[in-house]
Amino acid sequence: MHEFSLASEIIDIVLDSLRNAGKKQVNRIELDIGELSGVEVPALDMALKSLMNHPALKNAKIIRHRIKGKAICLTCKNEFELNDFFSVCPHCQGIYKDIISGREFNVRRLEVE
Ligand SMILES: [Zn+2]
Repeated sequence: MHEFSLASEIIDIVLDSLRNAGKKQVNRIELDIGELSGVEVPALDMALKSLMNHPALKNAKIIRHRIKGKAICLTCKNEFELNDFFSVCPHCQGIYKDIISGREFNVRRLEVE
């Protein structure tokens, strides 16, 4: 359900940009999806598919960029990759950290004609 509303937001953004650019067809939609964004990719794909029957979108290819979760440990300043919010610093086992990437969910790029 959550993915369905995300997907319709994406489609709205895409169609708005298309209109603003005065173009008719979307060829490619590139998305940034952070591994910590909580977005379920299979569910998102299904939702997108169901919304892509719009004539301007029927040839659009969707490219997904997965963004790895990264954090800086607040104790020892080590930068490390993490798969979930509960990961501890592998260097000092510290639990306090700043998440610096992985929460993204947005449209990175569009190709229209
Ligand atoms: Zn640390």
